[in-house]
Amino acid sequence: MNNLIEQVLSSTNLEKLAYSLNCFLEYVDAHENASRCFKQLNASIKQECAKYLMRHILYENENLYSFFDENESVLIYLDLLWPQNKSCKQSRKQLMKIIEDISIQITEPQGPIISNDSINKIMNYLNTECDFCSAVLKNKLFFILRFPYSNKKWNACCYTTCNKTNLISHHLFLYHVNLDELSSSEYVFLHELGHFLQIAVTADATVVPKSFLEIAEPFFPGIRNDFPEQAPEIFADCFAMGIMVNSPFEAHDPYTGIRKEDKKLFKLYMSALISALST
Ligand SMILES: [Zn+2]
Repeated sequence: MNNLIEQVLSSTNLEKLAYSLNCFLEYVDAHENASRCFKQLNASIKQECAKYLMRHILYENENLYSFFDENESVLIYLDLLWPQNKSCKQSRKQLMKIIEDISIQITEPQGPIISNDSINKIMNYLNTECDFCSAVLKNKLFFILRFPYSNKKWNACCYTTCNKTNLISHHLFLYHVNLDELSSSEYVFLHELGHFLQIAVTADATVVPKSFLEIAEPFFPGIRNDFPEQAPEIFADCFAMGIMVNSPFEAHDPYTGIRKEDKKLFKLYMSALISALST
């Protein structure tokens, strides 16, 4: 089994990860002590990921966020999507889901992916304008994971997690944008930061601040009662549009049909939310 664990740990891309996890599950299914196998793999993944955490703390903390390319992102991805203390049945199901998602969703890169340089510029702008890392991310760990593919389901995906010791962490998975989307890679990045703000206020990825439903209703009639489930996506879009208006990134806003005056209102609202978080 150690060889199979080593194979998972040395997976340098998502395809290899899916293959290694499959081999691991085949072994587990053919042996009796599944619980021990899952625990051993999970502990090994956690140990490997601890070194990224140390690197972030020791060397990159002044930026408040760290970048990871695919070969490093693979295990962080696995660690995040397969939390500890799951039963054998849950672990098996979750690992199968990870394998399935990789095989169904991952495709050749379609459009661009935001550069590290652009991310630095956006983060500097946000930290100067509204102290984003401090107010919204609470200066907690923020890992940005970049994958050299497109994902049929998402252009990006964000997670805010809180572990047993209340260590909050933020993870953002970035893919090459899908060409059929009305999105620039800068817009996608800001949209995801909008979700971090939403979660910082409500502590729930499916819930937006009540005040947002009130201000958004005239612009998106029905958001309160007819399609509240779409509210988090609309919130993140309004954040991205609001931040981009009158900023160095305005040319990357794909929503050119929406009035600038409306976007300015979103900017005011989002700024007020952020400053409320910092008090
Ligand atoms: Zn979204």
